[in-house]
Amino acid sequence: MHSRWSDDEARDYCQRFAAHGEALALRVYTSRLIGREPELVLHGGGNTSVKTTALDLLGRSVDVLCVKGSGSDLSQVEPAGLPAVRLAPLRELQQLDRLSDAAMVDALRGALLSSRSPNPSVEALLHAFLPHAFVDHTHANAILALTDQPDPAAHVRAAFGDDILVLPWIMPGFPLAKAVAAAHAERPGVRGIVLAKHGLFTFGATARESYERTIELVDKAERYLRRQLGGTPAMLLGDPAPLPAGERRAFLQQVLPIVRGALAQSVDTPLGAMWQRVVADARCGDLVASFSAHPMARELCHSNPITPDHVIRTKGPYLFLPRLVAKDGDACRREVQHYVATYQNYYDRCARQRSGRMLRPLPNVVVLEGVGVVAFASSRKAARIAADIAEPTLRVKAEAHALGRFVPLTDDELAEMEYWPLELDKLGSVVEPPLAGQVALVTGAAGAIGSGVVASLLAAGACVYATDVDEARLAVAMARCNAGPGHLATGVHDITDAAQVAAMFDDCAGTFGGVDVVVPNAGIAHVSRLDRMDAERFAKVMAVNTTGTLHVLKEAARVLRAQRTGGSVVVQASKNTFAPGAGFGAYSASKAAALQLARIAALEFAEFSVRVNVINADAVFGDEQVKSQLWETVGPDRMAARGLDADGLRAFYQKRSLLQVPVLPRHVGEAVVWFASQRTPTTGAVLPVDGGLPEAFPR
Ligand code: ZN
Repeated sequence: MHSRWSDDEARDYCQRFAAHGEALALRVYTSRLIGREPELVLHGGGNTSVKTTALDLLGRSVDVLCVKGSGSDLSQVEPAGLPAVRLAPLRELQQLDRLSDAAMVDALRGALLSSRSPNPSVEALLHAFLPHAFVDHTHANAILALTDQPDPAAHVRAAFGDDILVLPWIMPGFPLAKAVAAAHAERPGVRGIVLAKHGLFTFGATARESYERTIELVDKAERYLRRQLGGTPAMLLGDPAPLPAGERRAFLQQVLPIVRGALAQSVDTPLGAMWQRVVADARCGDLVASFSAHPMARELCHSNPITPDHVIRTKGPYLFLPRLVAKDGDACRREVQHYVATYQNYYDRCARQRSGRMLRPLPNVVVLEGVGVVAFASSRKAARIAADIAEPTLRVKAEAHALGRFVPLTDDELAEMEYWPLELDKLGSVVEPPLAGQVALVTGAAGAIGSGVVASLLAAGACVYATDVDEARLAVAMARCNAGPGHLATGVHDITDAAQVAAMFDDCAGTFGGVDVVVPNAGIAHVSRLDRMDAERFAKVMAVNTTGTLHVLKEAARVLRAQRTGGSVVVQASKNTFAPGAGFGAYSASKAAALQLARIAALEFAEFSVRVNVINADAVFGDEQVKSQLWETVGPDRMAARGLDADGLRAFYQKRSLLQVPVLPRHVGEAVVWFASQRTPTTGAVLPVDGGLPEAFPR
């Protein structure tokens, strides 16, 4: 590891943040340098501070500590993310023997210069008690490989010599701040402090000095590791061989719905039992595949994390699944149940006295033998964070194992962190959106209705796999959809080709772990009276609207059945199925057939708890950017027949309905979200979204 300090960049920061003073400007600079190095910290880990002065309301200069606020990420921290607290009242707390967490938070908030600031880091007192102007704290991987050992001090001494302090594991917060301050007071000349099984503190008179000490010590630790191990540990070099790289993705596509289904939790609600699902983020690079093929993999996966900071993202142990188990729904569920029982036991032994509420007892990270690592969470973002942490964790565990013996925190120590209210606060008290943890697949997503459905599903928190046959149109439509709490992935597929439809579901499973909500929406139109109908054009419409729907229903059944957690299919039919129009035989017949397929699916899919419903929309025009293909086909004919222009045609259709309102793509989307949320036990139903057309009332 080498220093990324640049005088030019430092000058830029001093100019950009001149209003905040040079000390804070350079603190922001080196905090970002640390935050951008994944070997030092990941996703909000670590914290930094600077002691400087600020003016109070009377214009007097007061000593302050600017310390990372809870919830900010060092890689992109702003001056406001390092809130200023008065130093004197914090330092006085050092006289106390004990301080409760609540009192510590009160003291920190009470010392803030601005009431709008975020809470200062839970390690703020540690920063305050050390005398140096700049203090840097990281969870460097190399330090963790050296100290997750039976005798951490021995390796630290061998790597760094004697001018580094080593402290055993101590619970963060007030106890750690006191212990570090006391140890430092005895040896004020040390260059840094290693916290065994936790991380590293360095300090200095300048931002550069403190930062470069972190780099220097981590570099020494990395060199020591390389010397001791003689290179990459055998466990990461593919002996025994993992699944060949080219076969891993296909394996994941096959087993993820099974594993994901086993990780869904049935919870009791006022509406009865509902599935709480999770979405996946899978990694299958050579390093994790090699690790997971090794005979030691199971033991190392089931051990506690390399630093306690990770527990709120990944839980303690990961679940290890042999390939044969992952393919077998019953065997997979047994392994998950075993994990849950072990977690329950851990909670009873170590955490029950701290918290009356057990956290979700299922694993967040699954390691698949010889394939890779998959993280699961109720949002794609949380799954990505857990996967980002799990990947290097497996490497560090392999290195620690090769160096001696991997010895992480004990269960008691881990539980104290996992159920520490100040740590749980970092996750925030977010209210989950209605479709959190659900995966939806939408065909024909480039059209007006399709993109409206995608937008509504994303807004409801679903991960959406949006697909269309037209790549360019899909890109235009999705550019406007990528918002909200959900997560969007796209694919290009022709639903008239059964093989492509199978590949579409496989890609969705590989991307998000499976599927819960399927919306067969793709459709085309052809205007012709029957006496002039071209049979080939008729067949083409049937191929997309009817046979295409059949292909999608068939593959949906395959994945939904494997998951064993029910699901929803919402077929887009049309108002025309009940109220057909002259000149519109191909479309009306093909959509009526699709509706009938949906009703048959409702009969057949109930066996594996899947609900199938139908939406009959009408007169959804879209807008300039995302046009309705249907109306582009039908509009000219209808306009000519009625002597209207485009606006006139819209007005005509609006006036024709009972409610006399425009029908928007998002209205159809909200109907899909309603069915997907499964708030009523409804299957086989048809819901009109048409402004009210008596001749098209379902019957
Ligand atoms: Zn820490």
